[in-house]
Amino acid sequence: MKALYYNGTGMEYRTDAPVPVPGEGESLIRIRLANICSTDREILKGYRPDFRGIMGHEFVGEVVRSDGRPDLTGRLVVGELNKGCGTCIYCRTGREKHCLSRRVIGMSADGCFAEYMCLADHLIHPVPEGLAPEEAVYTEPLAAAVEILKQVHIDPSLNAAVIGDGRLAFMITQVLAQTGIGLTVIGRHPDKLRMFAPYAETRLEEDYYPLRDFTAEESFEYVVDASGSEAGIHLALAIVRRMGTIILKSTYAGKASVDLSVIPVREITLVGSRCGPFEPALRMLKEGKVQFPPVELYPLEDYARAFASRAFKAGFVMED
Ligand SMILES: [Zn+2]
Ligand SMILES: [Zn+2]
Repeated sequence: MKALYYNGTGMEYRTDAPVPVPGEGESLIRIRLANICSTDREILKGYRPDFRGIMGHEFVGEVVRSDGRPDLTGRLVVGELNKGCGTCIYCRTGREKHCLSRRVIGMSADGCFAEYMCLADHLIHPVPEGLAPEEAVYTEPLAAAVEILKQVHIDPSLNAAVIGDGRLAFMITQVLAQTGIGLTVIGRHPDKLRMFAPYAETRLEEDYYPLRDFTAEESFEYVVDASGSEAGIHLALAIVRRMGTIILKSTYAGKASVDLSVIPVREITLVGSRCGPFEPALRMLKEGKVQFPPVELYPLEDYARAFASRAFKAGFVMED
């Protein structure tokens, strides 16, 4: 089958990849659409140096074989990334995505930039009737935005800022906007910020530089860093209110250097936030509560163009 491999230094397009054979408790999925995530781009920059295998973790596909869940056969599905060992304290306490021996598709196990992929049955979620594959493919990143509502009690009478004007920031903005909270999005690109205008007030990041001590009125109770760069945490620490909450969503290759003493002094809560729940994300998509631009689709062999795309979201469509 066709597949995009990460070989430790870059991507390789192969046509001779073996069709995977599902293990016990796994289903075989024929991939229909697979989206490129900024995490995939970070992998190419060295975020997962030990990984060798098929890239990709955002997909919609059709179950072609499932011994354990025959009811899934023929269904259009999406799937979660993290497969835990099933027996450790993390797996037994609902924290499978933190299992120390977890396998993550596209990061430590073969992913979805291929014609077929195997996935554990319990990570598979059927796409509700009436939800198009082109929209359902947004489930995984949207779930990561919904995770914030699981982790932090958002008091909608206060205010929040989202740092970043990329895809994840856009999803987070739409999710937070549903709470009715006063929302400000801080980004670098006026053209991208325009898209946020229906949901939030928009500001240019440069307006906040040089960073200084912002007044209570200028500051924010909740600050989400979805900038994808080190600058995000610096700005977040500057604009968060005393006793406020910073939610960190950015993952990037490289290390940030920050003065952590402001956290105890200002009693700031720092929340790390990663993958989230699929079912609420699927409901939001199905009910049209969130809206994203169409994915720019490429055949797998056009991976270089797909990765270079400046579209809101680029991805791959597998032909029949
Ligand atoms: Zn992703
Ligand atoms: Zn485990």
